[in-house]
Amino acid sequence: MTMTDHVLDGLRLRMANLFLEIIKNPKFNPQVARFLPTLPGNPEALPKRLFCTSCKTYKMERHFEDKHSRSYGATSMCFDCCRLNNIAIARHDMGFYRLMLQNIRNSETALSHEVDPVIHKLSEIDLKLVLETIWQISSAISGRQDLYDLKFVRWDKNRPWSPWNCILLTRQEATVHLRLLNRKIYSEALTTRIEMNHQRARDIFAERLSKPQSAPTICKSRPSGTAIIETPCSI
Ligand SMILES: [Zn+2]
Repeated sequence: MTMTDHVLDGLRLRMANLFLEIIKNPKFNPQVARFLPTLPGNPEALPKRLFCTSCKTYKMERHFEDKHSRSYGATSMCFDCCRLNNIAIARHDMGFYRLMLQNIRNSETALSHEVDPVIHKLSEIDLKLVLETIWQISSAISGRQDLYDLKFVRWDKNRPWSPWNCILLTRQEATVHLRLLNRKIYSEALTTRIEMNHQRARDIFAERLSKPQSAPTICKSRPSGTAIIETPCSI
């Protein structure tokens, strides 16, 4: 009988399996302990390693929060993954836009008994969109970009504020603008640019608020300043 390689295949496979078993044992290969769910031997004598469900790695217990769940299948994240997660997730503080919207509502209800109901349908996200996308966070007159010095006021002060009747100015410019008797002192180019912004706002909010008509409908508000939207008004 001739001895061929094929005859020895089974023996080679068995030796390879035995070798794998040996290198899986931390006694002979300490580094493998990083990848094992539980360490063999006396668990009290060995340092505890826990599994991070994010990076799929076994790490020392000190890399985890003290009070994390140790039960099988529980989600636990190591400090490195928490740090990366914290950097990776973008956050938007809408507090500034909420305050700005509230100031617009307050000044509108204080200014007139008539308000455009759209101001009560706008959210801070909508106002952010108007400010950033349409007005580019800059004063229409001076181009200043100090967010905390900018405010929206009525473009035509005889009509209620709305995204299609507003202008973004610095606080000082806004004071002067509201005292003007005639908006014709503004250049034609500036007026055209502002009217284009108004048209853009109409286009955006007609879609966002499912507004069938482009012109706003005026509703009455309470004299006390608490605005209400009366039926059949709709935007
Ligand atoms: Zn991790």
